[in-house]
Amino acid sequence: ERERLNRLKHTPSLTIDSQRVELLANIEMPEDTLGAVKVGAMGVGLFRSEFLFMGRSGNLPDEQEQYLAYRKAVEGMEGMPVTIRTVDIGSDKPLERSKHQETHLNPALGLRAIRWSLADPPMFLTQLRAILRAAAHGQVNLLVPMLAHANEIRQTLALLDHARSMLDIAGMAYGQVRLGAMIEIPAAALTLKLFLKHFDFLSIGTNDLIQYTLAIDRADEAVAHLYDPCHPAVLRLIADTIAECNLQGKGVSICGEMAGDISMTRLLLGLGLRSFSMHPSRILAVKQQVLRADASKLQAWAQQVLASEDPASLLQ
Ligand code: PEP
Ligand code: MG
Repeated sequence: ERERLNRLKHTPSLTIDSQRVELLANIEMPEDTLGAVKVGAMGVGLFRSEFLFMGRSGNLPDEQEQYLAYRKAVEGMEGMPVTIRTVDIGSDKPLERSKHQETHLNPALGLRAIRWSLADPPMFLTQLRAILRAAAHGQVNLLVPMLAHANEIRQTLALLDHARSMLDIAGMAYGQVRLGAMIEIPAAALTLKLFLKHFDFLSIGTNDLIQYTLAIDRADEAVAHLYDPCHPAVLRLIADTIAECNLQGKGVSICGEMAGDISMTRLLLGLGLRSFSMHPSRILAVKQQVLRADASKLQAWAQQVLASEDPASLLQ
């Protein structure tokens, strides 16, 4: 079976009815681009930049270190797009030592991801400058995690402008980026118009979207049996996000675990998704599902799944 999958590496990622489906890689370190290219990834859909920040005692990576890491990922993808997500520190991904290190009762609801970044503008500006500079070397998308509020969007965009003017003043080269927001808080999925006004593309983080929609800690074994990617409420938020982006001609991708789950591929294609980002080890198996799927025929069936009380029972 592995041999058969390996042969798909160079096969174009098209459905039976010739719909092009983008299969992207999730990476944690720049070196991971090697494995991504090896399985025929068409780009990086999620570079979890927090892995550059974790597991070090206190000192965060400075602008130059980050720039070199992002640039290495960009060059590693040989001209294909690389989506760099700003740090998603906090909750299940704590820093070794941080000035925000006090214990919090509900870290998943606390100062994590963009909230953590906005709480420390100099730190965030350092990362934004490094990403903008790396964009001079290839196609970079900048993705912001955990946004929920108009005010957070405004602050983020203002800091991005500020980062550009700092680079202008310093006379440093930088490139253009496409700007994306993660949809991983139900509030964001329910206010899509706001997001589509400000961003070029959206990326659905199903891991957190499921956690926050169902109030199930994604890391708590005691409630793992209730963590249901097929809950009708979860599917509704995903379906609406995909539909709204497609309607407005904006890019939309899924970068949570769901994108690499082959039991979900047909449903997501039927809902109109054409971009999936996943661990490189999942890419060829998902491509096999894509090659076997007739996307236009899956549309009506996907709507039935969406309307069902027990969607999972219809996926076999
Ligand atoms: C997600 O929440 O689905 C996601 C891709 O982000 P992370 O798993 O890094 O929180
Ligand atoms: Mg997330």
